[in-house]
Amino acid sequence: MIQADDLLKVYYDPVTEYKVAALRGLTLNIKEGQLVSIIGPSGSGKTTLINILAGLDVPTGGRVIVKGQQLDKMTERERREFRYYNIGLINQFISQNLFPRLSVMDNLMIPKRMFCLPHETAKKEVEELLELLRLKHIAKNNVEKISGGEAIRLSLGVALAKNPDILLCDEPTGQLDNMHTKEVVETIKDVNITMGKTILVVTHDIRFRTVFERSFIIRDGRLAGISIDINRNQLEFLMQSSEMKRSY
Ligand code: ADP
Ligand code: MG
Repeated sequence: MIQADDLLKVYYDPVTEYKVAALRGLTLNIKEGQLVSIIGPSGSGKTTLINILAGLDVPTGGRVIVKGQQLDKMTERERREFRYYNIGLINQFISQNLFPRLSVMDNLMIPKRMFCLPHETAKKEVEELLELLRLKHIAKNNVEKISGGEAIRLSLGVALAKNPDILLCDEPTGQLDNMHTKEVVETIKDVNITMGKTILVVTHDIRFRTVFERSFIIRDGRLAGISIDINRNQLEFLMQSSEMKRSY
């Protein structure tokens, strides 16, 4: 479903004239319907990776294939169209996912209208999303008045409202306390199970390594570890370096 081979991303900063290698040979495979996390410290290349998988940016080297389509070979316009139909992206800056002056319900209705669904069908599907995301009780509230956890669940809903096969979530719990983090994790699991979406969550929060089916560790733009058999609580790290043990 998502295949990244030997990804390299070099940014150039014209002010300092430095080149920054944000991804340095990252290889990654995610199967259809999988729910995985990618965990890495700040600056390890998580947002860069998400942007490349979403087709917002292209790698400097390597290959990225999503749903059988090679994104790095596409034009910008083709990538935009691909993203529109296939990818639900949750930005790490939550406010960018939502219209603050509109109600929770209207935020969910907008993507449905963009896809020209008949009003009654759109309304029914939005009701289902409100139920799944446990937002029914605040459907009429303005986004300005909802809590951080609710805003993230709503961001998930907005991404899901256009019915993409893939959800990419950038630091969805970055601003949340323990209780709300748990709630968001449970919601993401529900979405994966009931809707069958392929979901990738990137985060700096090491606790994520035990909550999903599989988790990858990245450091300095490279894959540094893979956890397996999480369902049986037998966490194992492959390629675990002593440096990683120190850091986590
Ligand atoms: P993360 O999301 O894990 O914090 P990022 O992908 O945002 O990491 O950044 C990885 C590295 O690339 C960092 O060193 C960051 O400063 C650098 N970087 C990210 N975006 C740009 C950019 N547009 N121009 C220059 N450097 C960038
Ligand atoms: Mg980031």
